[in-house]
Amino acid sequence: MAIYGIGGEIRPGQLGKTYMHEHLYLDLSRIKGDPDTHYNATDLVIEEMKQLKAKGISTIVEVTNHGMGRDLERMQRIVKESGIQVVVSTGFYKDPFLPAAALSQPVGELVKMMIRELDEGIEDSGIRAQLIGEIGTSKDQMTEMEAKVFEAAARAHRETGAAISTHTTLGTYALEQLEFFKGFGVDLEKVVVGHVDLRCDVETHLRIAQTGATLAFDTIGKVNYASDEARVTHIKGLIERGHVEQVVLSQDLTRKSHLKENGGIGYCYMLEEFLPKLRAAGVKETEIQQMLENNPYRILDRKE
Ligand SMILES: [Zn+2]
Repeated sequence: MAIYGIGGEIRPGQLGKTYMHEHLYLDLSRIKGDPDTHYNATDLVIEEMKQLKAKGISTIVEVTNHGMGRDLERMQRIVKESGIQVVVSTGFYKDPFLPAAALSQPVGELVKMMIRELDEGIEDSGIRAQLIGEIGTSKDQMTEMEAKVFEAAARAHRETGAAISTHTTLGTYALEQLEFFKGFGVDLEKVVVGHVDLRCDVETHLRIAQTGATLAFDTIGKVNYASDEARVTHIKGLIERGHVEQVVLSQDLTRKSHLKENGGIGYCYMLEEFLPKLRAAGVKETEIQQMLENNPYRILDRKE
């Protein structure tokens, strides 16, 4: 049983409160054509991580992977200067952000690469990835290349027991992702379905929960598609129906303009603005603890 982060093994009890889906550096600007999506504000990120740590968050699950600009040296610097723990991911994102390696290599090679990064380390860094993510589907569909990545992830999961964290585009295709994984024998209790809070639909959320998978309310504070009030209502509803062990929380900041200094909400938003709303709605401290610490631990921990 083990969880590895940038600084080595994270011992039981040391994971602490965890944001389950974040990026500390990211570059999607080549495809998106928007310089704001070159998320390279490392000095500001370090300052915000210091504040986040002071407010009680211990760990960030970093889901940047191949083709998104995963940058271990930068993550090491952030860890060193802020004291936050960072857990790293392996895998490929989604169309049209898949790198040449994912497009051209047979699925078996992608499986091998993921297993190597999970079991031995990333390149010669000695740093191990702890989970597979974020792997994504497009809006209302899984493209052929995305299916290849999902198959590779499922097979690497079967070999290693590592958790899988997904991206759904605007919350669509979540149940289909789970159906796909089921076909490959994935333990759905090790799957986190991302961005479900961009499509707050009770029926879909309950059907996801019934599979045993975890729902990531991981775009907290992004209110273009769903209000935080809707998030609160839906989290409360899941808890009332007995699914508190299947909810995790995060903010998924991805742009320079998301940082406080640049006029955005910043990483402390969840603690300062969102959790008070959950408490006001009657969510108990033990339930918040469950979603922020116990669930991440259970999901990330690998039985070896
Ligand atoms: Zn995403």
